[in-house]
Amino acid sequence: MNGPEFDIFVIGGGINGCGIARDAIGRGYKVALAEMNDFGAGTSSGSTKLIHGGLRYLEYYEFRLVREALMEREVLWAMAPHIIWPLRFVLPFQKGGVRPAWLIRLGLFLYDHLGGRKLLPPTRSLDMRRDPAGGPLKPLFTKAFEYSDGWVDDARLVVLNARDAADKGALILARTKVVSARRRDGFWSIEIEDQASGARRVITARMLVNAAGPWVDHVLSGAVEANARRNVRLVQGSHIVVKKKFEGPRAYFFQNPDNRIIFAIPYEQDFTLIGTTDRDFEGDPKDVKISQGEIGYLCSAASEYFSEPVTAQDIVWSYSAVRSLYDDGASKAQEATRDYVLKVDEANGAPLLNVFGGKLTTYRRLAEHALEKIGEKIGTRGSPWTAKSRLPGGDFPVLGYEEQVRALAAAYPFLTDAHTRRLVRSYGTAAAALLGDARSQRDLGHHFGSDLYAREVDWLMTREWAFRAEDILWRRTKQGLRLSQEETNFLEEYMAAVPARSVG
Ligand SMILES: Cc1cc2nc3c(=O)[nH]c(=O)nc-3n(C[C@H](O)[C@H](O)[C@H](O)COP(=O)(O)OP(=O)(O)OC[C@H]3O[C@@H](n4cnc5c(N)ncnc54)[C@H](O)[C@@H]3O)c2cc1C
Repeated sequence: MNGPEFDIFVIGGGINGCGIARDAIGRGYKVALAEMNDFGAGTSSGSTKLIHGGLRYLEYYEFRLVREALMEREVLWAMAPHIIWPLRFVLPFQKGGVRPAWLIRLGLFLYDHLGGRKLLPPTRSLDMRRDPAGGPLKPLFTKAFEYSDGWVDDARLVVLNARDAADKGALILARTKVVSARRRDGFWSIEIEDQASGARRVITARMLVNAAGPWVDHVLSGAVEANARRNVRLVQGSHIVVKKKFEGPRAYFFQNPDNRIIFAIPYEQDFTLIGTTDRDFEGDPKDVKISQGEIGYLCSAASEYFSEPVTAQDIVWSYSAVRSLYDDGASKAQEATRDYVLKVDEANGAPLLNVFGGKLTTYRRLAEHALEKIGEKIGTRGSPWTAKSRLPGGDFPVLGYEEQVRALAAAYPFLTDAHTRRLVRSYGTAAAALLGDARSQRDLGHHFGSDLYAREVDWLMTREWAFRAEDILWRRTKQGLRLSQEETNFLEEYMAAVPARSVG
């Protein structure tokens, strides 16, 4: 009897599945991954998009998680300086507020000193009567702290991990659902279904990784032969996007009377991102959507701080996602642990690794821990390598963004400044390969609206598994904020007319 085709088969193309697949292929395992939808279409594109230690988690004594996440900020920034960059947060406070100033100061002191901060500037105090950050806020906020964390384009972080894994030889399948996985003769027999054609086939592997995010229990109770149990608590979080509420590059951290916090973050040049909420969720995570109650909550929480209130009429877009938090029996959604838990289930020699919880910020470390467990079961290969690696397009110095913009503008002088900057932010050094031999705007092909042209759409279809207009408009880019319905429909028709092609 022949051995299995793959060492490791990963269910789920969110950040955790793609991160594990990339790490594993780089160590020399044979790896396959199936994502039933688009990469990142689950939780990983619906986050607040912060590479952060999680200041709030200190209140829940999550020191291990916060320290690991703080240390990861600069590691990830160096891996992908195009899609990750530092962000300063302004945390206003007033006498008699939600938390005393000394407690916030202590939290920020720990935040600055728990580890890993080399380039990110430390916390400082602000006099909001003088600092421009005070401008858009109510005058009662006379004081604030300003501290460092990072921003990430979450959907691109996922697809770049998938791309790099595929470039290193992994079999990466989009729109392919795992319909069953059975243990047979000491290995896994996994049946997958192409979601476009309905075609099914069987793949074999020595070890299975269940990185299905909020579907992790669903996979365990249905597709996969395993000891099912309720392992995760599903918690919905929603965000609203409104027209720019304030100038400048800094974000705000607002404390609410219910002890929760929300962020107001500069977003896509012309907008402000406000979120998030925290409420228990039931049902299929693909159906998650913002409720009127959440809209009301976010508008009124932000309006406590901004002198000009935020209203439901200001909302231009919203999105929601479901966190899968390891069920540690906490009574409130906001108190459930944000740390991840990896558990191996083994029977008849075919091991299954289940991934519960996790954050974007800690995905690389989660993958390293997963590889330790995988090594224990099927034999160790290679050694940890991702800390010093670069994601596709990220091979330039951490502080080199402006230099990249200058170089691209010099090579393609017909691009507008905004277009050049967007391309460098999305593709980094790969922007030049995307633009190729273009010598004028016309060479970029059909203009779909905003600064989206056929050349980029074709690149995303051939290099990044984009298949539907929404993959491009709401995940690979955020051009959905700028295209009209008619322009969106045309993009959909254009993409549907391209014969099905496998991503190289
Ligand atoms: C509102 C909100 C805000 C957040 N903000 C932050 C933040 O600012 N910073 C941060 O670090 N973290 C943040 N997080 C956490 C972070 O987004 C998640 O921890 C992370 O994205 C989880 O990734 P995942 O790969 O486990 O899950 P997912 O991204 O959901 O991926 C799982 C994938 O599995 C696929 N799948 C399921 N079943 C099958 C099957 N049978 N066959 C094939 N594929 C299948 C799904 O389609 C899905 O794409 C936030 C989360 C939420 C909800």
